[in-house]
Amino acid sequence: MRILVVEDERRLANIIKKGLTEEGFAVDAAYDGEEGQYLAESEEYDLILLDIMLPKVDGVTICRELRTKNIRSPVLMLTAKSEVEDKVAGLDSGADDYMTKPFSFLELRSRIHALIRRSKQEPSPTLKISDLELDPIKHKVQRSGKPISLTPKEFSVMELLLRHKDEVVTRTMIIEHVWDYNFDGMSNIVDVFVASLRRKVDKGSKVKLIHTIHGVGYKISVESD
Ligand code: CA
Repeated sequence: MRILVVEDERRLANIIKKGLTEEGFAVDAAYDGEEGQYLAESEEYDLILLDIMLPKVDGVTICRELRTKNIRSPVLMLTAKSEVEDKVAGLDSGADDYMTKPFSFLELRSRIHALIRRSKQEPSPTLKISDLELDPIKHKVQRSGKPISLTPKEFSVMELLLRHKDEVVTRTMIIEHVWDYNFDGMSNIVDVFVASLRRKVDKGSKVKLIHTIHGVGYKISVESD
């Protein structure tokens, strides 16, 4: 899951980025409206956190332009306490929700999950294949009822595979969804993470779920082919 944070208070932007990264999100931060708008239009985000009062272009204008350009990523507006009329303008512009600063990280986190869930229209949040279950909200994975402990990045890779079960997920898709815009790590990083996931998820089980599609990527499926 990829999130864009557009917030000119760098300290706040960095706290949010750090917290969400620890949750396993890939997070890009922009510190003014122009940069934020550029990223929102050129990359695909699962959610955009958008401050209203921003240098260069304000959040309401950005949101309106995104919707005009048919960019449907959920937008959560951030507004200072005094700017009540901003909330109205924000929601009018096509934002999905707003939060008043200061807010707790826990509340932010639960709003984000709610918005992403709503936008993906999942009646049941739990992702399943065979005896494996992943709960994106509680951040839990289990196989045959036994909990599996994953790092945040492993969890993100697993979630992406499960959201595309029985489909091939390319290495590029994994890098784009799990790492951020500035990623320039080792080219085999994805293979390293998938190998580790395999050890945790498939080792000791009769049915292997994670399959390598040579030269392309990976697939989670009950059938091997
Ligand atoms: Ca601001």
